[in-house]
Amino acid sequence: MRLSPVFLLSATNPSHFPTEAKTHNAPEVAFLGRSNVGKSSLINALLGSKEAHTSSTPGRTRAINFFALHEGSGNNKKARPTLIFADLPGYGYAKISKSISSEWPTFIEPYLAERDQLALAVCLVDTNIPPQPSDTQLIHYFQQMQRPYLVVGTKADRVSKNVLNKNMAALRKVHEIDDILPVSAKTNDGIPQLWQRLHALAE
Ligand code: GDP
Repeated sequence: MRLSPVFLLSATNPSHFPTEAKTHNAPEVAFLGRSNVGKSSLINALLGSKEAHTSSTPGRTRAINFFALHEGSGNNKKARPTLIFADLPGYGYAKISKSISSEWPTFIEPYLAERDQLALAVCLVDTNIPPQPSDTQLIHYFQQMQRPYLVVGTKADRVSKNVLNKNMAALRKVHEIDDILPVSAKTNDGIPQLWQRLHALAE
């Protein structure tokens, strides 16, 4: 199934979050990760289009950018979307709440903790570097809050299979998670598997 993205809005305050009139309460998938983890590349790989990802547009970077994904061409904006993507601002290496200190309490935490439609938070971690404290903190946040999340390991094409397996084992251990889905936006490895997980939310 091919889904076309339609940009909905950028939110920097819970009062901006899209209402049912825009989303038809379709399930939402949030994308989170440190800056440079490969979030834009992954969203582009999922959607197969470059126009989809517009957070490089001035004003959209430090905001939650919402996209409605429609079956077919996406021209019928009034129809119920299959899914909503919420692209969250990238964070830094320090504690997540420090690296995005003004944004975390004002609109990010409210979105992650309270948004009823949030069906899955995709937490991106780089498979090429050692486990980062800010990633651990975010993953533990979801565990504590008992919110649905999936850890996805980016840039899996950059290292050999052996090194990848070793790095993934370290990430699983430090972040205290059972599973990481490795993906590559470059080779498309893991993208169909990720889509499988996302389509299941829409059923
Ligand atoms: P963002 O800041 O999280 O949105 O990260 P970007 O998507 O802009 O990617 C950061 C850098 O990593 C860019 O130079 C990308 O070309 C590179 N990158 C992203 N994904 C991949 C991948 O799957 N494989 C490889 N080899 N490089 C990637």
